[in-house]
Amino acid sequence: MFNIEEFDIKLDTEVIGRNFVYCDEVGSSNRLLLETDEYSKHGTVLLAEFQSQGRGRKERVWLSNSGQNLTFSILLKEKLKENYVNFINLGASLAVAQSIENLYQLKVELKWPNDVLINKKKVAGILLESVSRGNKIDRLVVGIGINVNQPSFQTKFEIPPTSIRSEFNELISRERLLSDILNNFENILTMLHHSSDKILSDWKSRCKMIGEKIKIIEGENAKYGILEDINEKGFLVLKQGENSELIHYGDVTLR
Ligand code: ATP
Repeated sequence: MFNIEEFDIKLDTEVIGRNFVYCDEVGSSNRLLLETDEYSKHGTVLLAEFQSQGRGRKERVWLSNSGQNLTFSILLKEKLKENYVNFINLGASLAVAQSIENLYQLKVELKWPNDVLINKKKVAGILLESVSRGNKIDRLVVGIGINVNQPSFQTKFEIPPTSIRSEFNELISRERLLSDILNNFENILTMLHHSSDKILSDWKSRCKMIGEKIKIIEGENAKYGILEDINEKGFLVLKQGENSELIHYGDVTLR
């Protein structure tokens, strides 16, 4: 069981998570926050013990044992300028990374745009989804799945999975972890206006792939090049010979 009181004591935010919804089982927490008017308050966090349709990008699945991990979504309705979205995406993975480092002193690596890895294994995945009205984003939902206390994984994934418990060798308090992540995330949101360069540099300092050869998979096609940089707008800069190309996170897989 998730102890909401314990979570609440550690929560140090003004808005993020102040409206907190705890569910036993849902289809997808992102879907609920995106599509139902029942939950429409900026900063609402919906935590579900089990998601029968937990998803990653492109309808890939996110598989997570009930009750052992954290799968939650954060609803954002304010400050949704188009150019903030890339930073919210990077910032969500940064918030998770900062908490894992600070609470468990583990070394965390970030993979563009938003995977969180420990020892080259994936510990968290993040999925941003939005609803727009005209060309204005009306709702943005940040879905985060973290392997917290799950001891082992039955399914084989492209990137091997791990959990914080497996790396830290102790049972992890989900309440403390979630509140800490939300504290960090709210801090990052307040930096969007004036210190997005700090979000970017903090993110990049945890990305070990910059300067490395990478493969970008886009549907049936693959591109090879050097990951030259993540630019000031949060796009990936792929260098192929003399040319550099900007890659948007929407439809690509990075290997
Ligand atoms: P990738 O990280 O594989 O490059 P992605 O960034 O699109 O792809 P996400 O959308 O974050 O991935 O998550 C979905 C993918 O994560 C699935 O395709 C599966 O390979 C993997 N996956 C699913 N459940 C878990 C889990 N509990 N732990 C680690 N990886 C998982």
